[in-house]
Amino acid sequence: MALTQRNHDIIGEYFSHKDTSNLIAIDATCGNGRDTLFLAKLGFKKVYGFDIQQQAIDNTHQLLEQENLNKVSLIKAGHETIDKHVMQKADCIIFNLGYLPNADKNITTTEQTSLKALEKSLSLLNQQGLISILCYPGHTQGAIETKAIQERLEELDENWKITQILSSHPSTKAPILYLIRNSMNE
Ligand code: SAH
Repeated sequence: MALTQRNHDIIGEYFSHKDTSNLIAIDATCGNGRDTLFLAKLGFKKVYGFDIQQQAIDNTHQLLEQENLNKVSLIKAGHETIDKHVMQKADCIIFNLGYLPNADKNITTTEQTSLKALEKSLSLLNQQGLISILCYPGHTQGAIETKAIQERLEELDENWKITQILSSHPSTKAPILYLIRNSMNE
């Protein structure tokens, strides 16, 4: 099973025990909008979607058209500015890193901005919240970024619980999924 699907299954299961109608979700990398749509369908009170490319915002907007758009705010800005746009705590924050499939592969997430966004996400996260980060070490920039994220996650103190999920065909180039929660949830 692809890690994108695993990610949805895990998030769906995690929030199936909670009343999402009071909760806030953020898709930090809209891309083609599949994660944004997934979050909107989970019934969150509000979903924020970020991307730096107009094409990604447009793709996501199109995909969401059949949904209730009132609760989705699409923001054309880098996720490193998340705290300038989201003025409340969030319960679920998803990153699907890398580049937009079928678009310019040079426009990709970078370790500097992703680390900044991770820091801000840790501050924004509610006590019972969940951050998920899907990393793609299979391309040069992605490998640098994955290593930077791994190192940062290893440094986090015991207040955080980190789960690493490997692809079913692990290799140095295969995607890696990280889940981050407050350890007090256990
Ligand atoms: N790798 C995934 C798709 C990732 S899409 C897959 O294969 O399915 C990643 C998205 O992140 C792209 O649309 C890109 O425009 C966006 N992005 C790049 N830098 C960003 C930033 N600083 N803030 C928000 N989005 C960013």
